[in-house]
Amino acid sequence: MKKILIGTHNKGKFKEIAFLVPKKYKKISPITLKIKSPKETGKSFISNSRLKVIFFSKFVNYPVISDDSGLCIESLNNKPGIYSARLAKKHGGFFKAMKFILNKMKNIKNRKAYFVSSLSYKDINGKITSVEGKLRGRISNKILGKRGFGYDPIFIPIKKKITFGQMIKSKKIKMDHRFLAFKKLKKKIKI
Ligand code: IMP
Repeated sequence: MKKILIGTHNKGKFKEIAFLVPKKYKKISPITLKIKSPKETGKSFISNSRLKVIFFSKFVNYPVISDDSGLCIESLNNKPGIYSARLAKKHGGFFKAMKFILNKMKNIKNRKAYFVSSLSYKDINGKITSVEGKLRGRISNKILGKRGFGYDPIFIPIKKKITFGQMIKSKKIKMDHRFLAFKKLKKKIKI
């Protein structure tokens, strides 16, 4: 069976990417291989997904796919953006980070936000392909739902009335930023 390393330690992301990658691949996690994550020193989603794919591919001789993603909130100058995971770490978890965001936006009318995912794929010849997927939506007034991961309970995708935290996984997985990025990736590479 063909192997692919899904370069992330985030279990939510791993599950979503594993769902997107065709069944013919055995999906390997860096946790199983006891590989740590590299430092995210990039200034954009694409530069971070590229540095991750370059880092993880040093450990294996099969293809690697990595994601860098985050939540961008218009009224907060598109923050936390690439710092989404770091914001949660700073506040002691996602629940506290979501509370912090909602509190910051208490009197803000503009709730527009978007999720971004940059996927980078490195093939066995060393060729890297990077894409970006973006899903628009808005920030809810409350933390709603227990499904998903990260900021899912405060993000209502465009044309929907519920947060990703309230949505069943099979629906989220077929419409989110990672899904849109993977669709673009499939047009550029043979996977
Ligand atoms: P990083 O790509 O490892 O820097 O982490 C991205 C962070 O963005 C995650 O830890 C989550 O906080 C957030 N994030 C990315 N994608 C999603 C999603 O689909 N739902 C909720 N939060 C997400």
